[in-house]
Formats: sequence, C-alpha cells, structure tokens
Amino acid sequence: MSSITATPSLDLSTLPVTQLKGVGPKLAEKLAVINIHSVLDLLFHLPFRYQDRTRITPIGSLKHGMEAVIEGEIMGSAIVFSRRRSLLVKIQDGTGITSLRFYNFSAAQKNNLKDGARIRCFGEGRWGKSGVELYHPEYEVLSGSDKALADRLTPLYPATKGLHQARLRSLTEQALSMLCKSGSLPDLLPKALSRELKFISLEDALVYLHRPPVDASLRELEEGTHPAQSRLAFEELLANYLCLRRLREQADQHAATPFLSAGALPGRLLASLPFALTLAQKRVSAEISRDMEKPTPMLRLVQGDVGSGKTLVALMAALQVVEKGYQAAIMAPTEILAEQHYLNMDELLQPFGISTVFLSGKIKGKQRSKVLMEMASGQAQIVIGTHALFQDEVSFHQLGIVVVDEQHRFGVHQRLALREKGNNDSKYPHQLIMTATPIPRTLTMSAYADLDCSIIDELPPGRTPVNTILAADSRRSEIIERIRAACSEGKQAYWVCTLIEESEVLQCQAAEATYTELQALLAGINIGLIHGRMKPREKAEVMQTFKNGDTQLLVATTVIEVGVDVPNASLMVIENPERLGLAQLHQLRGRVGRGSEASHCVLLYKSPLSDMAKERLSIMRQSNDGFYIAEKDLEIRGPGEVLGTRQTGLIEFKLADLLRDAHLQPLVKLWAKKIKTDNPEFIEPLINRWLAGSEQYGHV
Ligand code: ADP
Ligand code: MG
Repeated sequence: MSSITATPSLDLSTLPVTQLKGVGPKLAEKLAVINIHSVLDLLFHLPFRYQDRTRITPIGSLKHGMEAVIEGEIMGSAIVFSRRRSLLVKIQDGTGITSLRFYNFSAAQKNNLKDGARIRCFGEGRWGKSGVELYHPEYEVLSGSDKALADRLTPLYPATKGLHQARLRSLTEQALSMLCKSGSLPDLLPKALSRELKFISLEDALVYLHRPPVDASLRELEEGTHPAQSRLAFEELLANYLCLRRLREQADQHAATPFLSAGALPGRLLASLPFALTLAQKRVSAEISRDMEKPTPMLRLVQGDVGSGKTLVALMAALQVVEKGYQAAIMAPTEILAEQHYLNMDELLQPFGISTVFLSGKIKGKQRSKVLMEMASGQAQIVIGTHALFQDEVSFHQLGIVVVDEQHRFGVHQRLALREKGNNDSKYPHQLIMTATPIPRTLTMSAYADLDCSIIDELPPGRTPVNTILAADSRRSEIIERIRAACSEGKQAYWVCTLIEESEVLQCQAAEATYTELQALLAGINIGLIHGRMKPREKAEVMQTFKNGDTQLLVATTVIEVGVDVPNASLMVIENPERLGLAQLHQLRGRVGRGSEASHCVLLYKSPLSDMAKERLSIMRQSNDGFYIAEKDLEIRGPGEVLGTRQTGLIEFKLADLLRDAHLQPLVKLWAKKIKTDNPEFIEPLINRWLAGSEQYGHV
C-alpha cells in the first residue's frame, strides 16, 4: 500500500557527495566540516537567508543598506590611495552614477574592467565618498547577448572556510536535479497525514526552500515559519519522537523485579519527620510506587522546582526496594551534592538501622575497598555517589533501583550505561530520574519522550518567596554592610563568585580573592570558603561548619548550585549574575528561602548591563517560579543551553527548532500514535532518514 517498499533507483541518503560532479576528496572534506556527507545531507543543508536578484535596480534609486542588482556601463576605473589601496570603478546606467570599490584585487581583474564595458553587479549599497557605493560586489562583465536574471530567490547557506556560496549553490543545483528524478526521495508521511495537515511533498518542500519563487514571503522564510519549513521540521520531530518511543518499547521488553509497596519502612520514615508530605509529593510518590510494582523497569522523570522536596520522594522509592532486601543507588552529578545527600540520608536512616555508603572517584585506598566490598556483598543497602558508582570495578549484589539526581547533566549514554550496570539475572533495575531544573514542556516531549513524567508542582508550606534585588557593582560596599548586619542578627549568608564557566581555576581564584577581601572587611564574622578544587574532605568540613552555624558567611563558586540545603541561610549575593543562565541563577537562588525567615538574593551585576542582560535579570526579579523562568531562558538562550546539550550531546536536530516549532509537538504526538497503528511500515525508514548515527539511535 505504500510507495516506500519499492527500492528507489537512487538512494540519496547513502549516495556520497563525491558522486556529484566536481566533488573530489578535498571538497568532500570541507563539506564534512559542516556535516554534509551524503547528497541528502546537502539537501537538508538549508539556506539561512535569501537575496532577491530577480530585478535590476536603477542606480538612481540605490539606497544605503539595500541589497540590489545593478547594471551599467563602466565610465572609468582607477587605483586610489586613501587609508588603504583600493580599486574604484565608476558605472552609470542613465538614472545615476555609482562606484564599485574593491580592496583586494588582481591585475587581471583590473584589466577586465575596461571603460565602456557593460557590467552587472550584486551587492549592498553603502554610504561612501561619492554617495551610495557598492563595496566588493559580486559582478560579471556582460558580453553581447543579454544574460537572464535569476528567476528565483538566491539562497545563502551556512558555509565554512574555503567553501563559498557559489560552490554550495552549484552543488545544491546538482542535488536538486537528482532529487527530481522520481523515486530518489520517497515521501515517508502517510497520505492521510499530508492531506490533513496540508503538507506538500518532501521533494517539493526542499525544492521550494532551496530556490523559492520570487513571490515567496521572505519574512516567513527567515523566521522559519513558512509551511515548507514546518513540513520538514514536522517530519524530523516525528522521526525523533518515534525513535524515543521505540527506545522505550524496547526497554519495556525487559524484566524488572516488582516491589510491592505494602511495607512499613517508608511510613516509618515519614512518621519520624517533623513535617508531612505535600500533596504533590504524595501524588508523585504514589506514581513511582505503582511503577515499581510492575515487572518491567520503571523509567520515570520527576520534575520539581528547587526546594519542592524531590530528595524525600527519591528516598521513599529507595526504601521500597531496600525493605525487600534489594539495594538502591543514588547518583548525583557533583561530589559536593552527592556528599550532601549522603550526610542527610544517613542521618535520616540511621534510626532504622539502614546502612548507607558513599562512593566517589576521590574515595581511595582502604576506604574504597571497604565500600566496594559492602556494595558487592549487599551489606550496603543504599549507595550514594557520583558517576563513580558505575565504573567497571563496581558491582552490586542486587540493585533494585537507580536514582539519578539532577538528570540534565547526564547524557542518554550514561543513563543507558546505568541500566546495564544493574542488569542482574537479566533483570533491570527501576530508574528514577530527577531534574533540578524544570524543563519546559516542549523540550520534555522531544528530549524525554522515552520517559514517564511526574511533576511536583507545589512547595512545602511556610516558605516565603525569595526577594530578589538587582544592584550595580558600585553598591558593593553597601551590600557588604548588609551582610554584616544580617550575620550579627544570627542569620547566615552566601556570597557566590561566578566567572566564565569554562575556567574552574579562574573561578576558584576569584573566590579565594573575594574570601580574603571579605575577611578583611568583615572582621568578627566567621567566613568559610568552598570551591571545586578543594579536597572532598575539606569541602565536607566547610559545609558542616556552615550547617552548624559556626561560620556565618560562605564564599562559594557555583559548586553550591545544586542540592546544598542549609535552611538558616537567608541572604545570598551573586556576583556577576549576567554571566549565568537563568535556570542556573534560579538554582543558586534556591539555596536560600528554605527556612521560615524572609530571604533575599542580591544580583550584584557589573555595570553597564546590556539590554538583553537587563531583560534576563529582571525576569529573576519578577518570578520565583522555575517553570516560568525555564520558559524564558529557553526563549532567550535556546534549547541547547537549557537542556545542557552542550555538555551531554543530548539531542541535535538538523532542521527543527524546538522553540520555533513547539506548536507542532502535539500534532507529532498525535500522528505518531496513528502511524503506529495504521502505517507502522513508515517508522523504520523515517528513523533511518533522520536519526541514523545520532545519539538516540542504536541504543537498543
Ligand atoms: P529539591 O527538590 O530542591 O531537591 P530538597 O529535597 O532538597 O529539594 O528539599 C528541600 C528542603 O525541604 C529540605 O530541607 C527538606 O527536608 C524540606 N522538605 C521536603 N519536603 C518537605 C515538606 N513536605 N514539608 C516541609 N519541608 C520539606
Ligand atoms: Mg535536590
């Protein structure tokens, strides 16, 4: 019933670019730099902008900033010396006179531009000495017969060093003519879908986008909202979604140990706490509990704003397996967070005689062998650590659940590796993934479609929202006085030093310098210092002293971003907040406002701030809602930054833009379902076309 079963005469997705005329190994290498390997890659390499070269503009109406084709007769050329040596060519067309200006030119080029010759140029008009001039225009000297103008808009492609527009245009020209030979790029969207969503064929969409007709809407094309673009983005999002769902279906084929939740341990833990769970915590706990009663592995993502109490929810899940004699592994992205979790949980669980251990890369020697042995023997019931938990030398006795805290720092790879680690008797552990940063819904659908999702959408009662203040660095000494006042009232404060994220060394140096400075300025106040280059034991000690209240001010780098929990701290100063993403600022700010005390966060920015930075920081002032902030962060910085894909290589799209194409997501979900039942034969080819070789693909 579908056309795709027929073998195409020419498969453009596997046809290497070297099959195109004029593409040898050298050029192929350059194309590879921009990820173009096959002819299909070339076709998916879409223009980012277009030029209208279909009309000739009279020289008399040329304006500054206008891109135009002009045609005229050369009236004279000369080499002139002003700041730089340049070739100046005067041309006229009866409506006016203009000059072409070239800074780099050859003798041959100069000789070619003879007086009286007719010339056609394309370039952008700019104010110059003699009125509006064209700098370095593209040009051709016309001979005798009239040469046709472009009859379509001219594409501009993302290019790379040594690979020019003209080359890319002539290559796409070849690729387009191959495309038009029937059958080389079958349509993989069911007819009913295309009809209902009014989609043109893939082939037509590609031809349109590479060579749009003159009347195409440049605005739509450049915003990426043209129907031809949506048509392509939809297909890519659909393929991605189908791929993640397939991954999930494969996971559902695996077995897991079911854990009935009838036990008493979670209840006893709750009874020992000075507070009750929020309704949202109860609901999410129940969802998790139900998952773990099943004989297939749980794959659940828990989202919740900073301070919503995710740790406790994770702990309840851990207890559900522990009381059946299985082990729980809780993994955190940083040493300091893992340690905090360990200390907190150990304290909570000791009364129940549950054995918790801590493991990180920095636990060495005898201590390490001891921990490893306890893990292997099953004596350690809850293991808390960094990704060191899943190195080769580590083995578990019987792992029932893996909890990954602050997921967005881990890639798909790591997540799957965890699962393999816990594989025991061909049973997989249950997996619970927690994110510290709320993820906008549109991103969840694309990035985590293989996971079930729970949201803790409520904060424990009695929290007062953090009052956020913007202050220029000129007010630094005033802010320092504020800290003195707060500390002498028995309150505690953080001072967070940020620096270019890439340089941990510099960041630590900045923290050290600030520490010394504040010590001098705040005599009588006990100050601690914590940064990423300290030994784990030192860090633990510093945190403990701060927790005990023995230090009142903690100078820190962004290592305290996640998980640190000291309820008595009610003031935070963040230096140079303009360097951080909003989600990260929200995380940092979440370290205060954990107690009943009204809390403040001072964003001590370096002035002057750019308009964009102002806009971003004022969002922090307006809102304490992590979901709202994440949406805004997404709008401003894009999905790569928000999901942390730069670190993890999570997902990358060729054409789709998660933000721009967000409105397509509900349709993608709907049609993915229909395709599964009505046209499953399209699934495999779609995934192959868009995701072969990607992160998601092939992890089955
Ligand atoms: P996050 O979701 O950011 O990981 P945590 O789990 O660290 O939040 O919890 C933040 C703080 O709130 C902890 O001190 C924790 O003990 C406390 N907490 C958790 N649940 C509740 C609750 N239902 N009522 C009051 N406090 C709670
Ligand atoms: Mg947490």
